[in-house]
Amino acid sequence: MKQLDYSCKVSGNRSNRSVYLTFDDGPNPYCTPDILDVLAEQRVPATFFVIGAYAADQPELIRRIVAEGHEVGNHTMTHPDLTTCGLEEIEYQITEASEAIKSASPQAEPKFIRAPYGVWNENVLSISARVGLQAVHWSVDPRDWSRPGVNAIVDAVLASVEPGAIVLLHDGCPPNELVGHKLSGLRDQTLMALSRVITGLHDRGFVIRTLSQDN
Ligand SMILES: [Zn+2]
Repeated sequence: MKQLDYSCKVSGNRSNRSVYLTFDDGPNPYCTPDILDVLAEQRVPATFFVIGAYAADQPELIRRIVAEGHEVGNHTMTHPDLTTCGLEEIEYQITEASEAIKSASPQAEPKFIRAPYGVWNENVLSISARVGLQAVHWSVDPRDWSRPGVNAIVDAVLASVEPGAIVLLHDGCPPNELVGHKLSGLRDQTLMALSRVITGLHDRGFVIRTLSQDN
């Protein structure tokens, strides 16, 4: 496979102690409100890469995310692997998701996109850029979606975090992975890990920001 040039993608600002918490695959009525409660208690902003179809179903959650000072990013309309999609489908997936987000809340207009599964190719990057979205990958992945245990999530983040780190967490689940799962409890470990992650980052002198604050 051709080596992809990731230079056009946003990487966090390494010149200060900023780190960025990002949540993918919501908004989810069973998970997102609890995550928002923890962020509010700890007075910490985050960036939510939401699935457009879910934003259309849960517009009030998009409005709450924005009202509480967080940022909304584009995570496509239905979460396909974009590298298996043709050009038209890639463009539809991206532009339709931004429209769904803006319909839920005009102030939520996304500036950033994260490809499902973090799988990018040149078509995805160039179409994203053409519609005005900056591509955002991640640098710290505690694999919270695999429910490795609360301690494992906390330790994985704190062991590898550095200035400019972009931390990948999940406040929902893609439509094709919901089969056979109960929605409630799906992200319980992420929720329980979150306060400890935030406290641990603060103890180490990191400042948690949204991506827009530094890019
Ligand atoms: Zn995802």
